[in-house]
Amino acid sequence: MRYRVSPGDPRLHRFHVTVTVPEGEQTLTFPSWAPGSYLMREFARNARDIRADREGVALPVERLDRHHWRVSGPCTLRYEVYAREKSVRTPFLDEHLGFFVPTNLLVHAADQGAATLEVEVPEGWVASCPLGEPVTGPALARWEARDVDHLYDAPVALGPFSRRDFTVRGVPHRHFIERGHNGDEEKMAVDLARIVETTAGLFGGGVPYPAYDLVTLTARTGHGGLEHKDGAVLLRPRLSFREPKEYEEFVTLAAHEHFHAWNVKRIHPDTLGPRFRYDREHHTRDLWWLEGGTVYYEERVAYGAGLVSQERHLKRLADLWARYLATPGRRHQSLEDSSWDAWIKLYRPGEDSPNSGISYYLKGAVVILAMDLELRHRSGRSTDDLMRALWDGWGRHGRGYPEGTVRRLATQLAGDDGTWAAWWEAHICGTAEVAMEAALDHAGIDVVAGAAKPGSWLGAELDGLVVASVREDGPAAGALTPGDELIAIDGERIVNLADRLRDIPPGTRIDVLLARDGRIVLRSLKTGMPHPSDLNFVLRNAIDEAQRRVRFAWLVGLSPAPS
Ligand SMILES: [Zn+2]
Repeated sequence: MRYRVSPGDPRLHRFHVTVTVPEGEQTLTFPSWAPGSYLMREFARNARDIRADREGVALPVERLDRHHWRVSGPCTLRYEVYAREKSVRTPFLDEHLGFFVPTNLLVHAADQGAATLEVEVPEGWVASCPLGEPVTGPALARWEARDVDHLYDAPVALGPFSRRDFTVRGVPHRHFIERGHNGDEEKMAVDLARIVETTAGLFGGGVPYPAYDLVTLTARTGHGGLEHKDGAVLLRPRLSFREPKEYEEFVTLAAHEHFHAWNVKRIHPDTLGPRFRYDREHHTRDLWWLEGGTVYYEERVAYGAGLVSQERHLKRLADLWARYLATPGRRHQSLEDSSWDAWIKLYRPGEDSPNSGISYYLKGAVVILAMDLELRHRSGRSTDDLMRALWDGWGRHGRGYPEGTVRRLATQLAGDDGTWAAWWEAHICGTAEVAMEAALDHAGIDVVAGAAKPGSWLGAELDGLVVASVREDGPAAGALTPGDELIAIDGERIVNLADRLRDIPPGTRIDVLLARDGRIVLRSLKTGMPHPSDLNFVLRNAIDEAQRRVRFAWLVGLSPAPS
């Protein structure tokens, strides 16, 4: 197969795609999803003017279902794809940027082998793609892919990017960033190199790719990332690179996506690669390890690389714990179920999500933190060892591991005394509360709540004055409903709800006037005490020798792979 992608007039937001289809009756698949982002997006819905011809004679394109077309080759297939969703996983095109993951744009044949991808690069723009060297326009970039999975794992970014190169362990890394941001690109390159070095040190033996392209997209608002085998794409707010806490979000996001070059892209269950079907879901119970583990290690790596202080590291972990505790859905969904149902739950959030589910990113990270301290306490081993065992046993060899392997390896590392199975069942398979205080105690760390916010708490998320969701364990449960528009409290019109609640002592009965589905309704409720959103992990002074050992091994940073 041969593909040619043209941005046409970028102001019109349509990529023009031409596919040279080989001989024979061909069933073509237009992918419905992009690996790493577990939602059926049916990318074919963005295509129009789909037509085929052989030497100028029109041929039919038969639609078989939402993601399959049939044509008779040899022929040339042409279509346009609308590209106006700016994210790391969807096509976007305007006069400043062209971006696509090939799953967004390109069909593939059933038995497709190698493919050639040609992209027209406008004048003054740079085209980056992990398939090969960047190309500066005006030019036709041409890259070769071994097979469909290789092609679909190689995002193409086009634009007048800034570029900084750095080399780690002899391997070239390129950082492309959209212009107009407020950061220091030299500092970013230095910090990114430290991240790469720290992660390579954890796994031992260098980096697993021949070259790495990191692309940072920027927008007025937004946050996201998508991992690939030989690169990653980040999205951050355009003016979020100067203020230290915002810059912290950039380096930890970069550490996260880069860590995926190991965990997810090479360490994964055998149900999640290396080959994919692009017209159906791939389910696994292990996303908590893949994503939660990567959240935990983005923190460990950024701290180990010296980009986040010990104080901030502890605070950031404590913030994860506070967010976990603020999600009542943790009592209703296990980590395994959250992983399995990613396609219909985490990626399709709704008003009931906080009550019925828990993110495998968030709880995964929290549980793996607890697991790390448990292992260090029980056997002096750690999740670093677990990550390395998965790498050495499977990832390094390009194989997926059989589901159940993470548990088996963790059990070996724990040096099971008969209680590990119960720990695992409670934390991974069940919905019991995470034994965080016990885990932290192994390192002599206490959870200390900061001052509660003054005033009252309703237990409802609001978008302006409209209720977005209601916590099932909060004062508003049964009184307010998503969609309610709040009008007045105790007869006084609400101007700013947060200000108003600050002046009401917890435990006060209030009458809320609201509009619900066009009707005016009066509801009474008793306000609650705000949950402590400010939790801290505090190092205790008086600790015993065992706690000192765990704390030192854990806080000294990442333990490098034994050489
Ligand atoms: Zn991730």
